[in-house]
Amino acid sequence: MLIDTHAHLYLDRFDEDREAVIARARAAGVARILMPAIDVPSIHRALELCERHDGLFAMAALHPSETKEATDEDFAAVAALCDHPKVVAVGESGLDYYWDRSFDDRQERFFRRHIRLAIEKDLPLILHNREATDDLVRILEEERAASDRPGRMRGIFHSFEQTAEVARKAASLGFLIGLGGLFVNKKRVARAVREAPMKQIVLETDAPFLAPDPMRGKRNEPAFLTYVAEKLAAVKEKTFEEVARVTTENALRLFRLEERAG
Ligand SMILES: [Zn+2]
Repeated sequence: MLIDTHAHLYLDRFDEDREAVIARARAAGVARILMPAIDVPSIHRALELCERHDGLFAMAALHPSETKEATDEDFAAVAALCDHPKVVAVGESGLDYYWDRSFDDRQERFFRRHIRLAIEKDLPLILHNREATDDLVRILEEERAASDRPGRMRGIFHSFEQTAEVARKAASLGFLIGLGGLFVNKKRVARAVREAPMKQIVLETDAPFLAPDPMRGKRNEPAFLTYVAEKLAAVKEKTFEEVARVTTENALRLFRLEERAG
């Protein structure tokens, strides 16, 4: 059994064949699929899918790129949806310095609000980071130091592609690293991952984005998680079964999935 901790199954790129995509995931052993949000409507779309399929779970957050125009009402809706029984994390939040640098201040403000929300709701926080590692880590450290419940801070550095040092920093802040297409496709990520403890690793596809070799360039889907697990087994010199077992345990523990129905 594998768990895809990050797949945007609600996006319209799956409208034509979503049922087949979910069936292929099951056939490949991907028993649970977690769906990070981008904006408020995406949370509702994910929750609709959770109602129709076992083994699916949603998250709630405003993606950093959405914070350019997001409102306080949007954030209030995210906060309220965190109490839904199928919402298992605050995500994805963070910083994106790749697409647009014109609203860094808004990104930071919303990022801090998401960190505090995750701590308040005692949920994991799923972090999106593009070219913003230094600020992201600094803000997490500041919020952790200022929090009266720092032990609740936990989550995933999603789509991990940084150095072993950043992985260690993430661990010290309570965060796992999410490995997907970037890990499979970029040699330097494998070097960092070799040093990370297995207990710190979860698997993800980020479908429909970032398909791993040998599917690179195609639309990604949760069934392709097996390629990520195979690559991790090779890098860590472990069996596929061992990688599946440990990464599944890590995800079950982080998201407390066994306490949730479905
Ligand atoms: Zn994503």
